[in-house]
Amino acid sequence: MKKNKSKGVPQETAEYMGKNMINTMLDLRYSHVTGGKVSQEELDMRPNWDRLMEEYRVGFPNIYVNGDSAGNKISLTFDDAPDRQCTPLILDILKEYQVPAVFAAHGRHTEEDADILLRVHKEGHEIINHTYDHLSLPQIGQSRIKEEILRTEAIIFELTGKRTCLMRPPYGKLSREVFATVADLDYGILMWSYNTYDFVATQKEEILEGMTEAVRPGEIILMHSYENKEPTVEALETIITDLRTRGFHFVPITELLGIDCYRVSVHA
Ligand SMILES: [Zn+2]
Repeated sequence: MKKNKSKGVPQETAEYMGKNMINTMLDLRYSHVTGGKVSQEELDMRPNWDRLMEEYRVGFPNIYVNGDSAGNKISLTFDDAPDRQCTPLILDILKEYQVPAVFAAHGRHTEEDADILLRVHKEGHEIINHTYDHLSLPQIGQSRIKEEILRTEAIIFELTGKRTCLMRPPYGKLSREVFATVADLDYGILMWSYNTYDFVATQKEEILEGMTEAVRPGEIILMHSYENKEPTVEALETIITDLRTRGFHFVPITELLGIDCYRVSVHA
């Protein structure tokens, strides 16, 4: 497994990305039903998604949008975990269907419900860093960005013995300053290529509408695992069974992307 190095991308990684079409499948997909309910800011960003991701990759190659578009692998990602209400239900479904997933851990939520995140880890799911207070990183300055990431890293490490090296920015918000800081911490950034917009869904149908047909090989699917995400919980079983019927195979993000989400060697 390749080490996730942010300081300059090695030639082999560039070749790897080209050969396997990693990050080349832009064209953000989304649920059209929930997609119509998001903020104006989200709506304005959507047509620019491809251009923004291309632009970001120039200065920061370790930003990941999707996996190999040639195979049949896809990955589920859940942001804002853990909580006591929805995360355990999501874990139950993933366990029943033997589906691995990625949980982007919110530092403060992890402190509050540490046992739930420990369950995420023990059941074999991957954990990435979603910062401590879930602030918009372009607005808080370098030292606070570092504090947000490192504080969460320490909480996850204490719980699991694993040091994260992959993060997802709250609200997907990025800037040059954020990239510089994240690179300085030797982290990669995990974005997504399919947005369920489940955070605005009030019924599971809003998430499911058109989803099975829209998902492509290599897709990184964005969902949420926190309070009041009943529509996500209710939609999950159908998402899994329908996409499997279409021939998709759910894999850990490290397998989809060929990178690590934890530091290889850790010295506490
Ligand atoms: Zn979030």
